[in-house]
Amino acid sequence: MERLTTIAALRQAVAGARARGASIGFVPTMGYLHEGHLRLIDEARRLTDVVVLSVFVNPLQFAPHEDLASYPRDLSGDVEKASTRGAGLLFVPDAREIYPREPRVRVVPGALAERWEGEVRPGHFAGVLTVVLKLLNIVQPDVVVFGQKDVQQATVVRAMVTDTDLPVRVVVAPTVRDADGLAMSSRNSYLTAAHRSEALVLSRALFAVRDAHGGGETDPERLLRVATRLLAASPEVAVDYLALADAETLEPVTRAARTGDVVLVAARVGGTRLIDNVILGWP
Ligand code: AMP
Repeated sequence: MERLTTIAALRQAVAGARARGASIGFVPTMGYLHEGHLRLIDEARRLTDVVVLSVFVNPLQFAPHEDLASYPRDLSGDVEKASTRGAGLLFVPDAREIYPREPRVRVVPGALAERWEGEVRPGHFAGVLTVVLKLLNIVQPDVVVFGQKDVQQATVVRAMVTDTDLPVRVVVAPTVRDADGLAMSSRNSYLTAAHRSEALVLSRALFAVRDAHGGGETDPERLLRVATRLLAASPEVAVDYLALADAETLEPVTRAARTGDVVLVAARVGGTRLIDNVILGWP
């Protein structure tokens, strides 16, 4: 695996791979890699010849009160994991490489980004889309792979790619969980053992909704009540939102479809903010 820190060097390495006839897959991350990220590499490898993995903690998507400074970092661990998993190029730019000046232009995400995460984190998706657009222009991959774990991010990115005719295929890979159900996240490293066990209520609540839906319930209010009851029993868990939405529009639904609607949850556990979701009708 080749490690590159400048846009020019990355472009040259990608051009070399292209000249050999290789197709290019791309997995953007903020690092502190876990199995969820590594499955995205697997998926990109399945679909393309050479996989570019980026590790960049994007300052533009953090609000001033958020965890930019304390976001977990472990570059040597990331290098080891990414290369073992078969990434061909590792792109690790610093903030000045990506933002040599305060960006004069940012991507406006539109209505898809206004609810849920967008409401709790104003400006977050503008920061995400701006860096994703830049990275897509730098790497120019055939395929870019995102995780279902951040469903709204994947939806908003897909909308940008479609609406601005970016020549890349967006693939979304399933959420990877620990054996006890907790969705893997770099931010799980913030959790104390006690908070980690409290955090399990998020996936349990989502699975309970999925089970109730599997049992034939289609009324959103009754479905969400199943989750609310579980969440309310955990005093350490402060819910930001819990919703049943259409997976494409992210608008709340008035009746759950047989498959494909998404149940979203975000909550703070201790000082750590976690998000998770499940798609109804999927295993
Ligand atoms: P992050 O490093 O948190 O910005 O995530 C980088 C990419 O990995 C995003 O596309 C995430 O959706 C994806 N990702 C993060 N956690 C998981 C997970 N548990 N399962 C699948 N994909 C994930």
